[in-house]
Amino acid sequence: MKKIVFLCGLLLVFIGESLTAQSSHVTCRHFKENFHTTHFSEKTQADISRSDTIDILNYAVTMDFTNWAAKTITANCNVRFTPKINNIDYIDLDLEQLTVDSVTDDSGQLNFTHNDTLLHIDLPNPLNINDTSNVTVYYRGIAPLDGSGFGGLHWTSNYAFNLGVGFLADPHNFGRAWHPCFDNFVERATYDFMIISSGGRNAHCNGQYLGETILGGDTLQHDWRMNDPIPSYLACVAVANYATVQQNHNGIGGNIPITLTGLPADTTDLKNSFVNLGSAIDAFEFWFGEHQWEKIGYVLTSAGAMEHPTAIFYPDFIANGSTAFEDIMAHELGHHWWGDLITCETAEDMWINEGMAEFSSHLFFEAVYGFDNYINRVINNHLDVLHYAHIEEDGYRALSGIPHEFTYGKHVYNKGAAMGHNLRTYLGPELYRTGVQSLMDNFKFSDINSTEMRDHLTTATGIDMTSFFNDWIFNPGFSDFDIDSSQVVPNGPDYDVTLYISQKLRGAPALHTNVPMTATFYNDDWSVFETEFMVSGAQSTTIATIPFDPVMIILNQNSDLNLARSMELLDIRTPGLHGGQRGKMQIIT
Ligand SMILES: [Zn+2]
Ligand SMILES: [Zn+2]
Repeated sequence: MKKIVFLCGLLLVFIGESLTAQSSHVTCRHFKENFHTTHFSEKTQADISRSDTIDILNYAVTMDFTNWAAKTITANCNVRFTPKINNIDYIDLDLEQLTVDSVTDDSGQLNFTHNDTLLHIDLPNPLNINDTSNVTVYYRGIAPLDGSGFGGLHWTSNYAFNLGVGFLADPHNFGRAWHPCFDNFVERATYDFMIISSGGRNAHCNGQYLGETILGGDTLQHDWRMNDPIPSYLACVAVANYATVQQNHNGIGGNIPITLTGLPADTTDLKNSFVNLGSAIDAFEFWFGEHQWEKIGYVLTSAGAMEHPTAIFYPDFIANGSTAFEDIMAHELGHHWWGDLITCETAEDMWINEGMAEFSSHLFFEAVYGFDNYINRVINNHLDVLHYAHIEEDGYRALSGIPHEFTYGKHVYNKGAAMGHNLRTYLGPELYRTGVQSLMDNFKFSDINSTEMRDHLTTATGIDMTSFFNDWIFNPGFSDFDIDSSQVVPNGPDYDVTLYISQKLRGAPALHTNVPMTATFYNDDWSVFETEFMVSGAQSTTIATIPFDPVMIILNQNSDLNLARSMELLDIRTPGLHGGQRGKMQIIT
């Protein structure tokens, strides 16, 4: 029997509460959070149950932006829908603040009421299942901006554009700020956009550009068509004096058209800031599967990064010609899988959208800059979570079931990203790819919740994901593991090492189970041997046969898991100052 001493030239530094996160990493959340002030509720009726009675098939939005000085719109929206149950004699749509002049269907004018939030329309005759019908809503006014300053219709001297979520709005979906809709995460419809502008401005929306029509003078109508169904919060419009750079990328399924759109003076910087976009596409297709949208587009605006599919809105001030903000570029592209292709069923599962999009950006850095860059970002991200998430958000939070005021907070984005890394380790890279690609394929263009994600990953990989989801998604807090003692017994030329491992918790209600753990054994000549095994509950025991008598053993040395502690390994063999990414040590002889 031999007690292993944990100090022999190689120093393990656990980074604790007293250090400050040194990350200069900026995520799109920072642009959003700057606006976040207080919470208020203006909950509409846009709950999921409405989508159980009626399926919206298509929105055709005609919107006139020619009254540029007054910042008012004149619009109509044709909503084509089909009942899912019999005897539907009304349709409720969400529309925020705008003035409704009239509502019609093929038979003429319809009776309606509008209480500034909910537009209730009486249908002339009850409709039954498969009685596809349509209503057209005529409306105008100043389209609202969310109280946070993020969300709704933004209008500056150069740009008019919407951002599809409101950070204070309840629900957060904010399609209703500019067109009548079912404003939830579940309802999906195709879109036609007919956007009227003047003064040399043109319009960008989701999907495919069909062309322009001269309406008289310098007034033009720009037509767009979104063939893939999207929820209302992902529909978009931006009007400005735009120029577009066309590119192409050879993806798994063939050519992917790319459009980079900005004011003419900004397109060169935009191109230079996006030099690694192709690598981002390749990385995400490798991990998440074939890109499913008809193109990839980014459109510069004056504020906010928002993942409207095929027309991602991106702040002009970070497309500055450098690659300093390509984490945001990658995060938003990650949404083309996480959030846009498969969408959280409710805001309470926003980690599926935002946490996994943030983790996507880490995978992008791995693909372009290597594994060390990746793991350094993973560790920095997690260190930030360990330091601040429970302080900023009033306690340790389960990722699933996050309260409304923390929908776009640190748990969702950063602990969510940290759990993306853990998920990769629980499954291993190959099964992670298999599971996620199957998930994307099975749930594409629809919604998903955490339970469905757990069950589908389990089925697709053959790995029971119950423990992972119970421990890291459905409950708050963190686990960590220590070697209490070890026993070494010679076995021929090898050594049988028994490890006695204890589990400790931070902010978690129950001991974690079935955690894949790695132990790294060091010989006195610095040679290394690694083993993998499972740990569960308060005490775990594992036996490994290794080719030397170890002088040191470290658990989770490579940060394969984000646990209750973050750590850094400093390899110190000589006196002097030794520094890592996060810790420093002066060794004096
Ligand atoms: Zn639909
Ligand atoms: Zn995001």
